Formats: sequence, structure tokens, C-alpha cells
Amino acid sequence: MIPVTKPFLPPLATYQAYVEGIWQRNWLTNNGPLVNELELKLKEYLDLPHLLFLSNGTVALQMAIKALKLEGEIITTPFSYVATTSSIIWEGCRPVFVDIDPHTLNINAELIEAAITPRTSGILATHVYGNPCDIDAIQSIGARHQLKVIYDAAHCFGTLYKGRSVFAYGDISTTSFHATKLFHTIEGGAVFTANAELLKKLAYLRNFGHDGPDKFADVGINGKNSEFHAAMGLSNLGYIDDILKSRKNQSDQYTQWFDRPGFQLITWSKDSKVNHAYFPVILPSEAQLLKVQKDLEANLIFPRRYFYPSLSSVEVFNPSNTPVAEEIAKRVLCLPLYYQLSKEEIDFICRIVMRSMNY
Ligand SMILES: *Cc1c(COP(=O)(O)O)cnc(C)c1O
Repeated sequence: MIPVTKPFLPPLATYQAYVEGIWQRNWLTNNGPLVNELELKLKEYLDLPHLLFLSNGTVALQMAIKALKLEGEIITTPFSYVATTSSIIWEGCRPVFVDIDPHTLNINAELIEAAITPRTSGILATHVYGNPCDIDAIQSIGARHQLKVIYDAAHCFGTLYKGRSVFAYGDISTTSFHATKLFHTIEGGAVFTANAELLKKLAYLRNFGHDGPDKFADVGINGKNSEFHAAMGLSNLGYIDDILKSRKNQSDQYTQWFDRPGFQLITWSKDSKVNHAYFPVILPSEAQLLKVQKDLEANLIFPRRYFYPSLSSVEVFNPSNTPVAEEIAKRVLCLPLYYQLSKEEIDFICRIVMRSMNY
């Protein structure tokens, strides 16, 4: 069976060595030494001044919206994982969907200004598939209209934009370290900001608003993560360069197969070094996608329709008309991509797709 992704697992002994330390200290959670060590090593690896390790990427989005005091309307993309939109609504705001660019599948920055109203307080954009948005355009729109900018960078571990980690951009960037992501801590996530004051607020929010055992600086939530999750992150961090390198090779191999008419591949941001977190292919029609999916599944290969449906068509999410996102969402398929996936398996997958498309 070939699933769309398989979590990376470090050698068991590496994880066990961290767990033995946890047993000795009897310190399981609440900002323990491994959480601190992971935060330090991540800052070093990403070359960023501030970050907080959190329980997941969804709470990271909620805390970002809360910390920036966003209210009213938030401009966002309909082409993302559901958590991007649901966290806006969960925080009492209203998502306003702006259509996507048909080549990058990121929010179309040229359409943002037309969606701004007196009620708009911020922009929440996703760097889809680890491919940076038009960051310069979004930043200048934000500055011109005094809107806060949050990036959902859940797919972006290892992606560079203009030579820096893409997590460095926006008022706040968030990420996910969920088991399905390129770098993971089983469950987990993080917030990033260059603003030290904002970081302090986020740190209060993460820990119930506690400022000492019996003082409260803010209205917080439980966004903490545990020593066990930090141990997985520390174990995996040793392999991240290897993982990124193999992703690049696997994506190059896929790209060779799909470099022919009938398939559209993502246009990657030219100012970036992307992490190849996913391998999406856009097929000519939904009927062809369903046929390819069926033929792959008959061979026990399970691609995923990331992201379908367009969030702008979900009844509970303040639906609106974003024709490009709706059209693309019907035709895009993510093929299997994970560390253990072999060259032979990629060839096998591609041969089935080509046969399905009558090549
Ligand atoms: C995975 C993901 C999230 C949610 O992260 P969790 O850690 O699972 O809560 C949010 N946004 C995007 C784009 C994602 O892919």
C-alpha cells in the first residue's frame, strides 16, 4: 500500500534516549527542558529570533488572530486546509474569500484590495504546498490599509523566501508540526514573529495568561506542548536536511514524468527555495482526476485531493464565489510523497497515471 504520506520516524533508540531523560527528571510538560531545547535548536536552524512551540498548528492560528486583536472581516484564501478558515470563525471573525492565482494556487494579491471594507482588520494567507505567496505585494497592501498580516505557513518547514526562512514574514507566521507534515513532533505547531512585545503576549496566551502562579496578565488558553512531543522534534531535526534533499530528488523525478501536455504543475515562486512538501498535479478535468484516482486505488496507491472542496463553497463558512479556486480544487491531486518512497515506486505510480490518461 502506498499512502499519500507516511510520517518520518527517527531510529527508536534516539527517541528512547530522550524519553529516559524525561523519566529521570519526572518533568512531562509545562515548558520543560526538552521544549526549551527544541525551541532553541529550531531558532538556530531557521535563523529566526523568536518562536514558540505549541500544541498544534490550529491553536497557533487562533492565538495569532487573538494576539493581533483581529475583529470583523479577515481576508483569506479559499484554497487551504479547513483550519485556516475555521480558526477565523472560531475567533469570532468573518472570512472574506479572495480568489487564487491559477498558476501558484496562492491567494491572488491583485484581487485583495477590492475585497477590503471598513470592517477588514487583517489578511490571513496560506503559502500553499510550501510555495510562498506574493509576500511583497501583500506586505505593501497591509501597510497601505493598516491591516495585520498572518501567514499560515503550515506546509513551509525548510522553505526560504529571498534567502530567509519564509516563517520570518508577516506580523505573525504560524506552522504545523503534525505527523503528516515534512517536519513533525507527532502533534505540534509554532508561531513566529519578529516583534518581541507580540511574542511576550503570545507566550502569555500559550499558558492560560499566567504571569506567575497566582497572577494573570491576559486571557489565555492552553497552547502548550509536552516533553514527549519535543523529544520527537529533537530526534527528527537531525534528519531534516536528508528529508529535504530526498524530497527535491523525488519531486524532480515526478516532474520529469509530468512534463508533457495534459498536466499542469505548480508555478513555484521565483524568489524562493521551496521544500517540496507535496507533489500536486492539475488534471484537465474532474472526470479525468476521478479516473486517475480510481486506477491508482485499484493498485493500492492512495493520492489525496488536497484541497477539495474549495472552502468558499462550504455551507457553514460564509460561502462566496471564487471561480478559480472552485475549478482548480476539482482538478488537483496530490501524489504520494514521503521519505521512504522509492524511485521504483514513483515510476510505478507515474506509469499508472500515464496509462490512465492514455499516454
Ligand atoms: C495541517 C494544517 C493546519 C493545521 O495544523 P494542525 O497542526 O493539524 O492543527 C493548518 N493549516 C494548514 C494549511 C495545514 O496544512
